[in-house]
Amino acid sequence: SNANLYAAIEASARRAGDAVAFSLDGSTLSYAGLLTLVGRYANALTQLGVGRGERVTVQVEKSLGNVALYLATLKIGAAYQPLNTAYTAAELDYFLGDAEPALLVADPRRVETLRPIAAARGVRHVETLDAAGEGSLAYLAATLPGAAPTAICEPDDLAALLYTSGTTGRSKGAMITHRNLSSNAKALLDIWAFQPGDVLLHALPIFHVHGLFVALNTALLNGSEIIWLPKFDADTVMAHLPRATVMMGVPTFYSRLLAHPGFTRELCAGMRLFIAGSAPLLAETHRQFQAATGHAILERYGMTECGMITSNPYVGTRLPGSVGYPLPDVSVRIVGEDGAELPRGEVGMLETNGPNRFLGYWRMPEKTAAEIRPDGFFTTGDLASMAPDDRVTIVGRGKDLIISGGLNIYPKEIEMEIDQFPGVVESAVIGVPHADFGEAVVAVVVARAAATLDDLALGEWLAGRLARFKLPKHIATVEELPRNTMGKVQKAELRARYKTLFP
Ligand code: ATP
Ligand code: MG
Repeated sequence: SNANLYAAIEASARRAGDAVAFSLDGSTLSYAGLLTLVGRYANALTQLGVGRGERVTVQVEKSLGNVALYLATLKIGAAYQPLNTAYTAAELDYFLGDAEPALLVADPRRVETLRPIAAARGVRHVETLDAAGEGSLAYLAATLPGAAPTAICEPDDLAALLYTSGTTGRSKGAMITHRNLSSNAKALLDIWAFQPGDVLLHALPIFHVHGLFVALNTALLNGSEIIWLPKFDADTVMAHLPRATVMMGVPTFYSRLLAHPGFTRELCAGMRLFIAGSAPLLAETHRQFQAATGHAILERYGMTECGMITSNPYVGTRLPGSVGYPLPDVSVRIVGEDGAELPRGEVGMLETNGPNRFLGYWRMPEKTAAEIRPDGFFTTGDLASMAPDDRVTIVGRGKDLIISGGLNIYPKEIEMEIDQFPGVVESAVIGVPHADFGEAVVAVVVARAAATLDDLALGEWLAGRLARFKLPKHIATVEELPRNTMGKVQKAELRARYKTLFP
């Protein structure tokens, strides 16, 4: 049998036939139409000389042409390498030098800037694709037949080279295989109870694991209709919600919907499931959303390197602040600094292994060897605890851990207390250099509109709830926290901003 993920998608698409695969504003593409489009793109890639295992680097807007390009890359046995549309030409230079793709597909608005960079990096071809799915690659595909062979792949063949978000340092290329993608998609179909008639509302970017793999692969394998939105816009999402049954989003999707005066319970009446991930969902957002809509958001946890790792249950309690249980075929353990497994309930580093675990970091053998243990477990860099029944709670990133006066301080514990103070929307707690303590705790707080935060009162309030060594030595009020496109708070940026507070 063929381990190529596209072979499985092709089979489900054939079964779905004339059913709608994608609906856009005013038009639709059927599954049969999608098969033809992917075939044309596969022929275009082959005509451009893209070989098996070679990388196709893609920095374009979200479009059906982009989806067809992704699937065609899988189909011919090459590796898809999507890039955040926000990356600059200088950043592209790094990615092209690192990935050495056979082909770069770029936005027509930027292609002239990128051509010389790609040429210097030895990229053989540069083609274009725009937000409407038009451009030189689309024109080439349109001239070619819609049928093409699907490459026979082994489970460990490279399907994608996906770069991490760069939250804790420079983005790393994770080598993702067909086994990784297939096992994860099948597990999610099962645990999230995908069913006939499901309609997925897709408003995520597709250069990241969330919108590309979690959302697209599952919906396509299920033969579901996908409501295809170019980006998250609360009004547009609300206009389409009544026809959808499943939505996947980053936490900011949910807080923005809640903040919209027109968001009602009625709009969600036909929904089966709201899923959140990519960044921690505030317990408060979970509660407010449930109060407003009757839906308990299902939070799950994952990453570029391993796809989805844990999920709250479809049937059973979706506990605010917890990311749920390991996927059926995924192992999770919590270890201490010596690498030994910790007793249940204790906080340590989360390690995971399973068919979802990536092969390693692209061209970084030392980093791969340092982060994948000899027994196959990947050290995620996230701090977490696991209850006796396997339920996992993420405490934060190891790199965000504060060590003050030799004592470990978990920012999340302090953030959760601050967030309960009247007038506070959210907070980020960081450690900054301090001569006496090594690091000092600093709280960066966002206050509700029109509320002025009394930081003295907040300080006193915290003193009644937290041990003295955990108390912030400084409280800064800001209008909003710095976030990237996936809604991740950029703590490195905050640390840089406040690094000279204690000279
Ligand atoms: P980099 O590895 O380059 O620093 P990154 O880790 O942000 O960037 P991603 O792979 O996009 O890159 O994100 C994975 C991380 O996102 C996880 O390691 C975890 O810290 C965080 N994350 C994902 N889902 C959740 C969640 N539900 N709750 C808390 N954190 C989450
Ligand atoms: Mg990471």
